[in-house]
This record gives sequence, structure tokens and C-alpha cells, in this order.
Amino acid sequence: MKLYNSLTKKVEDFKTNEPGKVSMYTCGPTVYHFAHIGNLRSYICEDVLEKLLRFGGYDVKRVMNITDVGHLSSDADTGEDKMLKGARREHKTVMEIAKFYTDAFFSDCNKLNIKMPDVVEPATNCIPEFINMIEGLLEKGYAYKAGDNIYFDTSRLVNYYVFGNQNEDELMVGARDDVTEDTNKRNKNDFVLWFTRSKFEDQALKWDSPWGVGYPGWHIECSCISMKHLGEKLDLHCGGVDNMFPHHTNEIAQSESFIGHKWCNYWFHVHHLNDETGKMSKSKGEFLTVSLLEKKGYDPLAYRLFVLQSHYRKPLTFSFAILDQADATYKKLKSRIAPVEEEGAVDEGAVKEWHDKFLEAVGDDCNTAMGLTLLYDVLKSELNGATKRKVIEDYDYVLSLDLLKTEEEAGVDEELKKYVEAKIAERAEAKKAKDFEKADAIRDELAGKGIVIKDTREGAVWSRA
Ligand code: AMP
Ligand code: ZN
Repeated sequence: MKLYNSLTKKVEDFKTNEPGKVSMYTCGPTVYHFAHIGNLRSYICEDVLEKLLRFGGYDVKRVMNITDVGHLSSDADTGEDKMLKGARREHKTVMEIAKFYTDAFFSDCNKLNIKMPDVVEPATNCIPEFINMIEGLLEKGYAYKAGDNIYFDTSRLVNYYVFGNQNEDELMVGARDDVTEDTNKRNKNDFVLWFTRSKFEDQALKWDSPWGVGYPGWHIECSCISMKHLGEKLDLHCGGVDNMFPHHTNEIAQSESFIGHKWCNYWFHVHHLNDETGKMSKSKGEFLTVSLLEKKGYDPLAYRLFVLQSHYRKPLTFSFAILDQADATYKKLKSRIAPVEEEGAVDEGAVKEWHDKFLEAVGDDCNTAMGLTLLYDVLKSELNGATKRKVIEDYDYVLSLDLLKTEEEAGVDEELKKYVEAKIAERAEAKKAKDFEKADAIRDELAGKGIVIKDTREGAVWSRA
């Protein structure tokens, strides 16, 4: 496999630390609002990458954080905690907001056939790990205390701007006029590891620490959560391009200063989805969500197809006119696949040959558009029906467009999904009201229909028995 690496700015052969195994980390969502379809572009591309690695025979362990504390309105430690803003907007507690939008994120992912990472860990679960790393950085002289906050000292690094081509002034991200600059910082781009002297008196989540009661900065979570589950050598780290600076730059600074050696070998960055007025972002007020697409009658998988048609390293502009085209293409594609009958014996040799073709083409820096072209080639080929279906099934592991599902099956699934989700919500209400008898009755009712529900920290999840 070949992959563009933002660290070297080259397409490189992908080599892992351990043969056959990939440790992969993804920056998760900040759960103060719904994800917009731009965020989900990043998650779709990262999902494709994970599945492609598995398709190529790698054993992948993928970890993702959920940012539920410490991410301020600007990425540069100024402004207000986004979670607090969300809570105030909705007159709820920060934890209620976190739970609601974490569930909403996974429901969107589910609709887009984005697989759940192997480990999902909220930042608030890992405070001891953060404190441990910050203590280590202080001991080694990479961090300092000022105004009772703890900062990372970027001047200690010879090469802080690892992604290059960056100019300090341009990089004063989001230093907004309405926020006074933090005069405690020794260098412009020093960043907060731990906030103790809070500028925000009503900060909802606070923990005890060796430096007093406070809360972590945003960047520390990804370094610690990654190391907790994937160790000190990471193969692959993903996120959107806006994460390159300051977030990923800071993750590298603190991780490598702490462990004393190189941390992550490959950095995968997905370019932005723009609308006609520029980068799609939540701060613009109105933004596009998967639910909105559904309300307008689109199948979320038509949006997935729209994303797969373009390369992840190119900005992509969204408009409903272009989505209409993708929607039409999706319907046409499915209608071409549906009549392919399960006839003849599967030619395993041919399946392998087409598998290798896909790996070669799409494995060249995640060229999903080539994967779609190959899919049409399969349909046009001389293969018998059974073999065609087998190859399509194989490709659909990566593309995840439900290519072999008939309309009826998809319809039934949608209905089932709605029914189960309504029941889960009803059960959650019953539990909240301490009506455990009703909650158990709902669980049994679902079990009777072959649906198993499991309670997780992020809420109930369901699967077929
Ligand atoms: P957030 O929830 O804001 O922390 O962002 C979640 C992910 O979405 C991050 O990896 C961001 O880099 C990515 N992202 C943010 N805006 C966009 C966009 N317009 N297009 C694609 N990815 C984005
Ligand atoms: Zn991150």
C-alpha cells in the first residue's frame, strides 16, 4: 500500500512497526453539537482507510477519542470551552450534552456505514493519564507553570513546526479580537496542558491535580489516549487538515518530548468539505447534518458515494445539485447490480485477481474513485453472476455502499432501525424515571424480535442476535 504522509509530504510505501499489524488513531468529535457532513467526510475517508488496510490483510487496531472537555472555541486555548457553550445553549449539563451528541455521532456513522473504532474513549475517562504525562513534561523541563496554568514550552524544540511551511504569525489561529491574549505564555504558540487558574469561573468539569483543581487542555487527550491503547509507537494518525496545526503539531511536540523518541510514522489528513461560501463549520450557525439530508429524502449512502467519488486530498465542494447527481449515480449503480443473478460457480481465482486489482488501485493513496471505476469494470466483465456478486461483496467491504442489498431489504432495515431506536429511547426514559420493570420489559420485547441491546457508557447499542 502507498499512502501520502503529511510529515514527509510524499506518497510513501506503507510500512508498519510490527509486521502485519497497524496501530491507528483517529481524532474523534467534540461532542457539543451534531457532526456536520464535513466532519463526516473525514470520518468516511478514515473508515475507508481502515477497511482498506484490513482488506489488504493487516490486523488493525483503531482507537478514537471523544472530546468532552478542554476544546476551547478557538483551537489556540482562547475563547470558551465548547462543551460549556453547548450546555448553556441547551440548558443541560455538560455530561448530558456529551452523551446526547456522542450517541448522535454514532447514529450518523451507522447510517453512513462507518465502522465503530475498536476502542472509543472519552477524554474525561483519562484524567490520571493526562496528569502523568504533564508531570513527566514538567520533570523534563518541557513544560512550565505560569499564572497557575501549565504550558508546553515550544521553544524547547528545534523543530516544533513538523508539518513545515508554516509562519508563526499566520498560525496564530483563531486569536480573536474579543479574547485577550494569554500573557502567561512565554512563546506565541505555547499551549495549555492543564488549566488551573480558570478564566471561566463556571467551568463545569474540574479535577484535582498536583497543580490545583482544574481541567486539561485539548491536545493532551489524543497523545495520552493513543498511548494508553496503542503504546509508544504509533503507525498511523488521522484527522482533518485543520487538525495539522495546532492540534497535531502539539500532539507530536508533547508525545515525543515525553517518550524521548519518534511517536507516529504516518499522518493522514483529509481535506475539507466546503459549501459555496467556504469551509463548512459549526460556528457558522446553520450547518448540514445527516438528519437534514434524510429529511430532504436522500439516502445517507448517496452522500458516502459522493465522498468516495473524490480524492481525500482535494477540497470538495458540496451543493445539493452535486448530491442529486451522486444520488442518481447511486440508484443507477444499485439497479445495475440488482439483476446480477447468483448463477454459475464462484471462480475463486478470478475473485482473488479482482481483489488484488482493487488493492493495487485503491491502495495507491486511497484512490476511492478508482475503486468505483473497477466496480463498473466488474459489472461489464465476462465473469459469471455468482463470481460478480462475490467480487462486489468483496469491494463493498471497503466501499460500504450496501451494494448487494435490495431496496426491500434496505427499506425493512430502515423501519427496523427506527423501531429499535424508538424502543431504546423509551427504555432510557423508563430507566431515568426508575421504572426498571418497564425498562426490562422493553429489553425482553426486543429480545423476542432477535434484537440484543447492550448498555455502554455512551448509551445503549443494539445488534441482531
Ligand atoms: P471536531 O468535532 O470539530 O473536533 O472535528 C471532527 C473532525 O472533523 C476533525 O478531524 C476535523 O479536522 C474534521 N473537520 C472539521 N471541519 C471539516 C470540514 N469542513 N471538512 C472535513 N473535515 C472537517
Ligand atoms: Zn486529536
